[in-house]
Amino acid sequence: MSSTSEQSKTYDLFIVGGGINGCGIARDAAGRGLSVALAEMNDLASATSSASTKLFHGGLRYLEYFEINLVRHALTEREVLLKAMPHISWPMRFVLPYHKDMRFEGSTPTSRILNTVMPWMKGRRPAWLIRFGLMLYDTLGGRKILPATKTLQLKGSAEGAPIDDRFEKAFEYSDCWIEDSRLVVLNARDAQARGAEIMVRTKVASAARVDDLWEITLHDTLTGEVKTVRSRMLVNAGGPWVGDIIQQKVRINSTEGVRLVRGSHIVTRKLYDHDKCYFFQGTDGRIIFAIPYETDFTLIGTTDAEHSDPSVKPECTDEERDYLLNFINQYLKDDISADDVVWSYSGVRPLYDDGASSATAATRDYTLKVDNTGGAPILNVFGGKITTYRKLAEDAMDKIVPFFPGTSSHWTAGVALPGGDFAVDGFDALVDRLGDAYPFLTDVWARRLVRAYGTDAWAVMGDAKEQGDLGQAFGATLTEREVIWLCDNEYARTAEDIIWRRNKLGLRLAKQDVTALEDFLRTAFAARKTKAAE
Ligand SMILES: Cc1cc2nc3c(=O)[nH]c(=O)nc-3n(C[C@H](O)[C@H](O)[C@H](O)COP(=O)(O)OP(=O)(O)OC[C@H]3O[C@@H](n4cnc5c(N)ncnc54)[C@H](O)[C@@H]3O)c2cc1C
Repeated sequence: MSSTSEQSKTYDLFIVGGGINGCGIARDAAGRGLSVALAEMNDLASATSSASTKLFHGGLRYLEYFEINLVRHALTEREVLLKAMPHISWPMRFVLPYHKDMRFEGSTPTSRILNTVMPWMKGRRPAWLIRFGLMLYDTLGGRKILPATKTLQLKGSAEGAPIDDRFEKAFEYSDCWIEDSRLVVLNARDAQARGAEIMVRTKVASAARVDDLWEITLHDTLTGEVKTVRSRMLVNAGGPWVGDIIQQKVRINSTEGVRLVRGSHIVTRKLYDHDKCYFFQGTDGRIIFAIPYETDFTLIGTTDAEHSDPSVKPECTDEERDYLLNFINQYLKDDISADDVVWSYSGVRPLYDDGASSATAATRDYTLKVDNTGGAPILNVFGGKITTYRKLAEDAMDKIVPFFPGTSSHWTAGVALPGGDFAVDGFDALVDRLGDAYPFLTDVWARRLVRAYGTDAWAVMGDAKEQGDLGQAFGATLTEREVIWLCDNEYARTAEDIIWRRNKLGLRLAKQDVTALEDFLRTAFAARKTKAAE
């Protein structure tokens, strides 16, 4: 359906924002035959979509806000997603230690009811209520793969080993892990494979309605080049910038807004020896997670803090770090301190502004609004979770399709993402097969490659017969061949793109390794530029 002219190309759909929502919509739309382009001003997933807690989850605590629909949809979606990407997503068990002093956040609808009917509880969360919430959680989403909730005695168990002795009992339930930034890039790759044009380091400087089309001005942030393209419809998936795009780039009248709520995580050395996560309730009514991370580390988060300006890079403040440390120390036998923190990251939740009274209480559900009052249509995307990105894309398409009669229907449920075409329990077998095909790989290396690339690991390794065939080694199993593959196939441009978003080797590489990688990329891109100019 696309057409080109001398000055500009006309797409059906132009998407602003290369986070999970923009890339999810691009994949769905391209798969239905629309001509699609997506512009991301930095790297894919450089904003919120690489800074999440990395869970495909229903959101147990949202039950206390009676967000039953959100929880049901997210729970049902977990297994649909797991099957489509068993390399980057896997089941996790969550251990929720119970103590009678654990309290609700005072403003949840559930706590208000409990305070009225059981005032003697004084805001405490009773065990039967948690059990009831988990029973709902188990049944709402039609679980088939994930195991059910159970009760645990902590004393003498591996799960109890790192936990203070005053916690005797725990509940255990299921959710899933997701490598968030890889999810984004795999959606972008699949969108491109289905015909979409993915432009990174390309900022949408402005967009205006001209003759029933959008005329979009793009700014290449690397070369400074400015160009104009046209599109029949615009999708604003700018995440934290959705309001900025409405007001400053597109300049339409809209009363819709987002509330920006910062959430920070800290990463410590590995705090315990099993593969389960902890769900900790605080005395302030909030909850945090402690999750096994990248084999040798523990991920702890998150916080909730207002963050008014999206242009201010979110960072974990000392106050947030200390809050998380104090929180987890209420549970651990052996206290940890700032010295144990090896890394931290922070992101901004773009929550639909529903006038909720606190950051914790603002809805996590999404809202999609189409405006075609002034000519060509625009779809604005507010909110959403990593977990609901595929459903969000389907719902977005339901709003887009009426402008493109004849476009086909939903298709993404059950279709694997790149490298995800193997069984949910087939990870170990795939690692063994990769090890057989490339005998020089260590087990750690083969596991890392299969986690990142799934069945595409063969394409990454190519015809290598021995380690020397993979070119320069940058440390921590990262080699020149993989780096080039990431630049050619996964839109990577900088060392940061590679070691913090395509993988997490930044946790392991020494400063001189990163400098060597930066030097390599500078030389490689300069050589490509020279070749292209010849
Ligand atoms: C701390 C935290 C924990 C979370 N944990 C979970 C979790 O465990 N599970 C879950 O399901 N969800 C979780 N979420 C929610 C989830 O991460 C977000 O809802 C989701 O990532 C939002 O994606 P997005 O595509 O809307 O926004 P983003 O990922 O922010 O993408 C928007 C993109 O638009 C680009 N952009 C903006 N303006 C322009 C422009 N003018 N031109 C070009 N590009 C532009 C930006 O650079 C950005 O990359 C969490 C969120 C946070 C903050």
